[in-house]
Amino acid sequence: PAALANQAADTSLADAKLAATSCLSERAQNLLKVMTIEEKIGQLHQAAGGRSKNLNSKLTPEELDKVRRGEVGSYLHVAGAKALGELQKVATEESKHGIPLLFAMDVVHGYRTIFPVPIAMASTWDTEQWHTASRIAAQEATAAGLHWTFAPMVDIARDPRWGRIVEGAGADPYLGSRMAAAQVEGFQNNDLSASDTLLATTKHLGVYGAPTGGRDYGSSDVSERTLNEVYLPPFYAANVSGSGSYMTAFNDIGGIPSTANEEIVDGILREDWGFCGLVVSDWNAIHELINHGVAKDRPAAAALALKAGVDMDMTSAVYKEDLVKAIENDPSLMMDLDLAAGRVITVKEQLGLFDNAAKYHDEAREKAQMLTPASREAARIAAEKSAVLLKNDNNAFPIASGPQKIAVLGALATDSLTQLGSWRGRGDANDVVSILDGLKTHAPEGIDISYSETAENISDFTENADRILLVIGEDYDLSGEARSRSDIELPADQTALFKAAIETGKPVSVILVTGRALAIPEIDQDADAILNIWMGGVEAGNAVANLVYGTSAPAGRLPISFPRKTGQAPLTYSEYPSGRPADPDLSNDSNRFIDLPITPLYPFGHGLSYSTFEYSNLSAAQTEISADGVISLSVTVTNTGDITADEVVQLYMRDPVAFVARPQIQLRGFKRVTLEPDQSATVTFELSPQQAAIYKGRNDWKVESGDLEFFIGGSSADLKSSQIINILNNADSKA
Ligand code: BGC
Repeated sequence: PAALANQAADTSLADAKLAATSCLSERAQNLLKVMTIEEKIGQLHQAAGGRSKNLNSKLTPEELDKVRRGEVGSYLHVAGAKALGELQKVATEESKHGIPLLFAMDVVHGYRTIFPVPIAMASTWDTEQWHTASRIAAQEATAAGLHWTFAPMVDIARDPRWGRIVEGAGADPYLGSRMAAAQVEGFQNNDLSASDTLLATTKHLGVYGAPTGGRDYGSSDVSERTLNEVYLPPFYAANVSGSGSYMTAFNDIGGIPSTANEEIVDGILREDWGFCGLVVSDWNAIHELINHGVAKDRPAAAALALKAGVDMDMTSAVYKEDLVKAIENDPSLMMDLDLAAGRVITVKEQLGLFDNAAKYHDEAREKAQMLTPASREAARIAAEKSAVLLKNDNNAFPIASGPQKIAVLGALATDSLTQLGSWRGRGDANDVVSILDGLKTHAPEGIDISYSETAENISDFTENADRILLVIGEDYDLSGEARSRSDIELPADQTALFKAAIETGKPVSVILVTGRALAIPEIDQDADAILNIWMGGVEAGNAVANLVYGTSAPAGRLPISFPRKTGQAPLTYSEYPSGRPADPDLSNDSNRFIDLPITPLYPFGHGLSYSTFEYSNLSAAQTEISADGVISLSVTVTNTGDITADEVVQLYMRDPVAFVARPQIQLRGFKRVTLEPDQSATVTFELSPQQAAIYKGRNDWKVESGDLEFFIGGSSADLKSSQIINILNNADSKA
């Protein structure tokens, strides 16, 4: 467009910025020609609406006047088809350019039908589950007038002290990438203009999940290689799936706050990956550039964020109030302003808001869409699939048929709110089937359930019991944003409850409720069985009952290792090898602790079944492959037990010698299969040698020639067989 080209010529802006104009729709480019600076800035301003059921009192006549004057581009934390419809009409019918508003909310693992928390969804190792959950969330949220969700959260996290570990897919870039893609595809369904799809926001770009000491908002100081090989892959995968927006993180990477990181936002995301959509800051993060110490005042903060490529300002009002001043100081920012406003308008157009904003404001649909029986059913299936059987001695689970008295113990058995976990949209604790309710409702004949919240009078309470079913863990308020813990053992009251249960001498089986990996060696030692259900959403109780009574068999797998002690964090199965590896005798000079094994309590990929599986015939279609070929590996998996159950077949890769050290093993494929007794399945993985590419520098990756070793098994610590594949030639690649 001529106007932009002229500005670029005037201000000698980078070619890349000019190229970015090709992402703007024609309507956006035409509007930019007639909008004032203030109107353009208005598009970049996201205002908080409030968290009440419908629009709250913040939408005063003065606020509506701001909309009429085009001073607001978007509202977050709003919902309600009718109220938002009325507000939208003010924007489209009473403002000068008729530009619609964008309505946003954190619709993460459900809007009204709340699914298990994201770390639980990742534990399904079944991308279909996330796809379905995100579709349902989008259908419900759009019925309530929303266009835009701040999800998926794809931050790789290896330190369970960090409370937000509950919001992501855990520790692994491959698993995280697959889960990220499934969510983006579920929310957007490849058609942003449909009335039941939500614009996804992949967040928080670039390394929010590795703050120092696990403390939320803290600095992540990772190497360039780790940034590119571990933390960025899920962001990349989300872009391949068409994520319409991204959110920058609060924190800094080695001194550069992500909200001012031009190399990552405009460079890697836009220039290298070709992302055309919208970038929003996190809440107040532009203002916080001052606290970071990279901007002396608000105009300077505005300039830094805008130049980095951050289009929309979530609530800090720095753009709204201080960008004009910043542009006076540096007129070259006009080009960035045009691009940012143009991108906001283009996204609104992609959502179909200029043509038909009313499609989001159908009250009949809003009534009909929420918490349907089909949505509940999907939530139950996800909850069952996400549960991880950590330990199961003496076949404690499933509970054998026949008369039994079961003493259910622990307040978490009835704590419905906790099952909704962090970010619960418009979820309602009254919708939740609690663990106790589920256990009672589905109790087979002869099973007698009694319940106590506390250990008071525990010997009387458990006097006649055949066993104790102890429900312990963390409640919803111990994980999530700003919920980092320095100690990831059980909270003291929960440990006390556990001890009291053990002291009764009765067999104790544990239902673990948690939003993070916990250090629970005593429970591992003394309980017969541990079924980790994380926080299971509205159908938690029904899912638990089905698993405990054996109507279905658990097959969830851990997406993060459980440490033995807090001091082991951060922890990953995928470390670089040490020059002095820990040996079995833990000799003095090896990579070890003097007071603790270095292995986790439960490794990444771990999860038991009620059945048993055998792996055989691992084979490769070809063992010598050129760097642009396809590696194809097959294995036969047989259910050798006597019940139908799922197995999660996992493929790991090792690159034994390369120009830099490579992680000991890396996940490179997984497949969850359902097998009847004696049934076998051949599972085939096909992958490109690009999956072995090594980061050398920006836009510069290399696939080396030489041997790669592949392992297949049911956990990162239970690898059954291996196969060597020889890569014939070197290849350079871009991403
Ligand atoms: C969180 C984001 C979230 C935003 C809006 C912030 O505090 O870090 O993940 O999307 O609030 O609710």
